Formats: sequence, structure tokens, C-alpha cells
Amino acid sequence: MDSSHYKPNVSIVGAGTMGTGIAQVAAQNGYQVKVYDIDTDVLAVAKEKLRRSYIRLVQKGKLDQATADTVLKRITLTNKIESLVNSDFVIEAVVENIEVKKRLFFELEANLPKSAVITTNTSSLSVTSIASVCRNPERVVGTHFFNPAPLMPLVEIVPAIQTRPSTVQKAKELMDDWNKVSVIAKDTPGFIVNRVARPFYGEALRLYEEGFADFPTIDWAMKEFGGFRMGPFELMDLIGNDINYTVTETVFEQFYYEPRFRPSFFQKRIVEANRLGKKNGLGFYSYKEGAQNPEPDKDRDKGEYIFDRILYMLINEAADALFMGIASKEDIDLAMTKGVNYPKGLLKWADEIGIENVIEGIKVLSEDYGEDRYRVNPLLKKMRREKSKFYEG
Ligand code: NAD
Repeated sequence: MDSSHYKPNVSIVGAGTMGTGIAQVAAQNGYQVKVYDIDTDVLAVAKEKLRRSYIRLVQKGKLDQATADTVLKRITLTNKIESLVNSDFVIEAVVENIEVKKRLFFELEANLPKSAVITTNTSSLSVTSIASVCRNPERVVGTHFFNPAPLMPLVEIVPAIQTRPSTVQKAKELMDDWNKVSVIAKDTPGFIVNRVARPFYGEALRLYEEGFADFPTIDWAMKEFGGFRMGPFELMDLIGNDINYTVTETVFEQFYYEPRFRPSFFQKRIVEANRLGKKNGLGFYSYKEGAQNPEPDKDRDKGEYIFDRILYMLINEAADALFMGIASKEDIDLAMTKGVNYPKGLLKWADEIGIENVIEGIKVLSEDYGEDRYRVNPLLKKMRREKSKFYEG
């Protein structure tokens, strides 16, 4: 799109990690953006963080000084909600608390034109519930960015029950204009990525808890046989075990205690021990200077078993998301490759290795354990009966 086209007036609410990241995305794509936060200290910190991040980008040669200055000038910080009055598009990224968000949406509506679109960056709350406090809930939609927002291409667009199609369209157009990859997800716990990715962590933790393999061996297996950029334990350490555990617990509770999503005691203990991961120097691995972490056991039979088991469980979850109409098959695959860097879409992967093999692999687990966790998704069974594939040809 040429740079002279009409650009909606964008505002962000919340100047924390996500709010400032999204503001950067907007500004780098030529948008003037206002960032509103109730906390003036947070605004001062955000301003300094933004300034420093552009200094780093210039030092790394990613931007020249003049461009960095122009981009920074496009971002205005404010603690006055009234100054959002001319916004066409507002992205909310305040704390993950339903009461705070509901109060804010109620207050926002009073300060915005009736035509403005309001989106929420919530990762785990119901968009429908947030929209319910609005007089015009049809203009509310979820836009779930991933952290760090300037680097992660994916945005999950989540229509509420009340959302009108033109609101979804406007959100999609803006994300396209910001060069984001957007997918449409049903307003259900975890949307696509945080739901489908659960077994990557959960099954890895389970294998460890059973004493089958240690962290480096499981991480090695996923990288060696699956081509994943990071193993599950490395990734949990990067995300932060506190955050990863909370997402698992939230998804488990919101799914009315579905056993497939049951959190791991061991990860809970890791969090209780304050082993949060890379951010505080110790998680499953040590990140302290000179730390010696154990080497993987590169037994290929063992490695293949680990990889197959985790992949089958991931595919089963992706199939369930499709079966339950959470998103299209293309969007499910796109979400996992663009939101969490999987080397391949899971449904495409299923076609490649054969649905029959996925079913047989999960059946063995089901027979061995007799747990509800290991049950084959009905869509996979139906596809086997019909000898069909997710993607024909
Ligand atoms: P954060 O704690 O870094 O920032 C939240 C900000 O909201 C704070 O600066 C706070 O002062 C401000 N705030 C609180 N109440 C407010 C109000 N009523 N009006 C204006 N500002 C208010 O949080 P974050 O990590 O940036 O997360 C923000 C949202 O994005 C949450 O809904 C979270 O679930 C979601 N999210 C976070 C991540 C992540 O990895 N951090 C990823 C995707 C989505």
C-alpha cells in the first residue's frame, strides 16, 4: 500500500511491555500513535525504554538516526484519557484483569467517537465478556499480539459474539498495513496458539516427570528430529516458567478441568523455587556465567520416541481446534508457524507422516496409561475412515 493512504488515528491503552511494543509497530509503519496509561511513572519508564530501544536499533545498523528520530516522534505518551477523543482505532493492553478491563472499556466508550473500533490484547480473558460492558459492543474485537510485538509477526483476531463483520475487517486491514500475519480465532480459551501449543510443554514435562529423559535430551530430540528452533525446556525458560505455568493453569481451568491440559506439579515447584528461567538466571537450566548444563543423551531410538509422542499430541490438539471450529486449517497452521516459530504447520505435518500413524501412536499411549489425556480426536478418526487428508493434493 502506498504511504499516502488514509491512516486511522491509532491509540494504545497501557504503556507496559505489550503497549509499548505495539506502539513501536504502529510508529514504524508510519502511524501517529498515542499511548495512554494511568500511571505517570510507567509513562516515564516507557519513554526511556522506547528511546533506548531506538538507540540500539541505530547502533545495530537496523535504522538510520533520522528514521529513528522520525519514528520516535510519532509516539506521544499521555495520562489523560480525554486525549483519545479523536481515535479511530484503540488497542487496549492493560493488566490481565477482567474487572480492570471492563471498567476501562466503559470509560473508553464515553471518550471515543461512536465509530471507533476498540480492540483488546487479552491473552486469556473472554472478549465477549469485555465487550458486554459497552453500549456499542459490535465495535469490540480481540487483537492478540505476541511478545515481543515488533518482532513476532502473528496477531490473532478474535471476534466476540457481539462483534460485527466490518469491525473484524477493519482490524484485519490495519494488521495487514502493519505487515502482521493475522488469523481469525474463535473467542475460546487460549485462542489458537496458547491452546494448540500446550502439549509441546505438557508432554515434555510428563516425559521428564516419568523419568524417561532429562531436559537436554528432550530439547535435543525436538530440535534434532523435528527441526524446532528451541526445545520445550529452553522455550519455557525463555518465556518464563511463571508465565508459562499460569497460561497452562488458566487454560486448564477455563476448559473445565480438561485432563489434556492438566498442569505439571514439577513446573509448579520450579516456579515456587523461583526458577523463573532466563530472566532471573535460573530455570530448568542455569544461565549464570560459566554454568555447566548437562549434555543430552543422544540415543536416537529414545529421541525419536520423544519427538513422535510430543508431535502426535500436538497434532491431536490442532485437529481438535479444527474440529471445534476455532479457526480454519490454514489459520491453525499459520498461527503455529508465525506465533511460535514451529518449523511446519501441524495439520500439514499430519498429512506428511500419515494420520494413521498419529492415531496408532496415541492409541498406544491410551492403552498404556488408560488416561483421558490420551484420547484420539474424533476428527482424526473420521479422516482415517474416509481416507482423507487435511490438504488434498
Ligand atoms: P504490563 O503489566 O507490562 O502493562 C500493563 C500496563 O497497564 C501498566 O503499565 C499499567 O500501568 C497499565 N494500566 C493498568 N490499568 C490501567 C487503566 N485502567 N488504564 C490505563 N492503563 C492501565 O502488561 P503486559 O505484559 O504489557 O500485558 C498487557 C496485556 O497484553 C494483558 O492483557 C496481557 O495478558 C496481554 N499479553 C501479554 C503478553 C506478554 O507476553 N506480556 C503477550 C500477549 C498478550
